[in-house]
Amino acid sequence: MSKPVLIVGGGPAGLSAAHALASVGQSVVMVEKEDRLGGAPILSGYAKLIPSGEWARDAIGSMVARVEQNALVEARLNCQVNEFSGAPGKFQAQLSDGSKIEAGATILTTGFTHFDSINKPEWGFGTYDDVVTTTQVEQMISTGGGVRCPSDGRKPERVAILLCVGSRDRQIGREWCSKVCCTVSANLAMEIREELPDCHVYIYYMDIRTYGLYEDLYYWKSQEEFRVKYIKARIAEVTSDGQRLIVKGEDTLVKRPITIPFDMVVHAIGMDPNVDNMKLGAIFDVDLESHGHIGRGSNYSALATTSRAGVFVAGAATGPETIDDSISQGQAAAMAALATLNQNIGAA
Ligand SMILES: Cc1cc2nc3c(=O)[nH]c(=O)nc-3n(C[C@H](O)[C@H](O)[C@H](O)COP(=O)(O)OP(=O)(O)OC[C@H]3O[C@@H](n4cnc5c(N)ncnc54)[C@H](O)[C@@H]3O)c2cc1C
Ligand code: SF4
Repeated sequence: MSKPVLIVGGGPAGLSAAHALASVGQSVVMVEKEDRLGGAPILSGYAKLIPSGEWARDAIGSMVARVEQNALVEARLNCQVNEFSGAPGKFQAQLSDGSKIEAGATILTTGFTHFDSINKPEWGFGTYDDVVTTTQVEQMISTGGGVRCPSDGRKPERVAILLCVGSRDRQIGREWCSKVCCTVSANLAMEIREELPDCHVYIYYMDIRTYGLYEDLYYWKSQEEFRVKYIKARIAEVTSDGQRLIVKGEDTLVKRPITIPFDMVVHAIGMDPNVDNMKLGAIFDVDLESHGHIGRGSNYSALATTSRAGVFVAGAATGPETIDDSISQGQAAAMAALATLNQNIGAA
């Protein structure tokens, strides 16, 4: 019988890899550093997901349940890999809970870290209570509390959503586009309008990237059915006049300065490389790509490979990804891990 596959990270990508492997009879040890499985959608309390419209707790919750209920998957929570050695078919890992395990192959599904808006201080986060992030608004909606100004609990009458916070920003070393935040923000804007029909919602953007099939479902629908207003702008700063937040910038279509008051300002935060990636790169001896995500060995011929044979990668660990792409990549990595096990049957 082959050794288990070690999966590091229990988000959508890891859950999908674990399910795929278990469904063909392959045992898995899943190591997750937090106290729950589910990854960012569960740990950060996302509300309704794009593009399905399903609640994250139902959609990802069901992925968690089918893995937890599968006897072939052993989940180690509050746990990390401290040391890793060996070769395909005969890896050894020392876990932070003191145990040692053997694995035939490994899949890294360690995901991303949300951009910390404190690194964009001129846009008011950390200074004004009513400057919040998309994840905070997701939590307001998913916990049933509704969208409220944190400072005094009032219903906001005017909300600004600022796109590309911590993405496409060379000044702070984040050159990449985080891929999902335009669509997530258009979706949140519609949810705010649905809950608070009198609230005016503005989206400040550089470019809109509701790519693929999302254009009419989110960009046009949010304007035509939900009356969300879009302003193409370069934002200078978010301040306060003592009553309301003030967003200052330049409307880049008409090339004029604009100063607009709001009750709440939402940062559409991007997807940073996982803060653990330097450590993970060293422990697993895999290369990182230039931005600090885990590097892919190949984009075409050998999907899910890293720079080390027998160690695979999937999902947002490789860079900004959607949930459905992370799930597909998890399945591809499971297939690659199985092939490694088959090639190394009998490895001591
Ligand atoms: C605000 C926001 C909203 C979003 N909404 C949507 C949406 O509606 N639809 C959509 O398709 N996508 C959405 N996304 C993107 C979505 O979050 C990702 O596609 C998805 O979480 C990627 O899954 P993953 O399993 O690769 O990584 P993650 O979800 O990041 O999971 C990684 C897991 O690995 C664990 N881990 C990390 N480091 C270690 C370590 N060293 N040892 C052990 N475990 C570790 C983490 O605790 C976590 O459980 C959103 C992103 C943001 C920022
Ligand atoms: S998806 Fe949109 S908001 Fe997110 S980084 Fe790309 S352009 Fe900016």
